[in-house]
Amino acid sequence: MADNRKKMPKLDCPHCGKRCADVADVKLKNDSVVLKLGAEPADYIIECPRCHKLFGLYIKVLHSA
Ligand SMILES: [Zn+2]
Repeated sequence: MADNRKKMPKLDCPHCGKRCADVADVKLKNDSVVLKLGAEPADYIIECPRCHKLFGLYIKVLHSA
């Protein structure tokens, strides 16, 4: 169990820089972009559990033709 958690990709909050979300799929991690709200449209809105600020998650593969 512990070994699996080590391999789990993490997302870093763009506001405080802390790890704030787990991504189960490595491909999703590689194809996703964390961005602050307002700049670009985001596919998911995530609230950081640390600083409680909202940020967007843009999934590239959702927009590739
Ligand atoms: Zn944060």
